[in-house]
Amino acid sequence: MSIAKSIAEIEEKIEGKAKLIAVSKKQPNEKLLEAYKAGFKRLGENYVQELCAKQEELPKDIEWHMIGHLQSNKVKYIAPFVHMIHSVDSFKLLKEINKQARKNERTIDCLLQIFIAEEDSKTGMEEQELWDLLANPALRDLENVRICGLMGMSTFTENTAQVEKEFRNLKRIFDKLNEKHPELPATEISMGMSGDWPLAINCGSTMIRVGSAIFGARQ
Ligand SMILES: *Cc1c(COP(=O)(O)O)cnc(C)c1O
Repeated sequence: MSIAKSIAEIEEKIEGKAKLIAVSKKQPNEKLLEAYKAGFKRLGENYVQELCAKQEELPKDIEWHMIGHLQSNKVKYIAPFVHMIHSVDSFKLLKEINKQARKNERTIDCLLQIFIAEEDSKTGMEEQELWDLLANPALRDLENVRICGLMGMSTFTENTAQVEKEFRNLKRIFDKLNEKHPELPATEISMGMSGDWPLAINCGSTMIRVGSAIFGARQ
């Protein structure tokens, strides 16, 4: 199926319940342009170097989402243009994003990544780390970042009951976040990928990150 058609099909099934982010990591620019020419401009990338190269080469009105693990020393490269960072996993990183956003006279939208999987390989904060981060008085000084919600990655498994349990757990933490911190503009839950996005939306996802189901296998 063509990229445009895959996107249109997913958008139709979503029924406006969530935003679709097309994950274009390790895909050639021609494929990204195909999505762009079909009117789709919301793309997600995992690696800073690849993201910067694509941003330089492709149309400037693409909305870039950083969804991969981010090191503090690389924030400066994406701060001038990134639309949202989904993978904030420490106060130190948030502080650096704030610093670089200020340098660029911008405010950067961020999601705090929570560890919800039963796998060692997935990154993110434990729930308690989230509450500690939000209780940090120095958070108030970070005027150039907006905490827009949470992101999570489920365990890579065929066991949908397991995945559903993890999605529901992230939704529970999200609800608690809004109860405890009504001052935050926390409206987004970024969860769900090619294999499990319908389940994620049923569990409350507002942003799904879909790669291979749109662009095919990665290089
Ligand atoms: C690669 C990736 C995706 C997309 O994965 P697919 O299975 O290809 O849809 C989503 N989120 C993150 C964080 C990723 O690294």
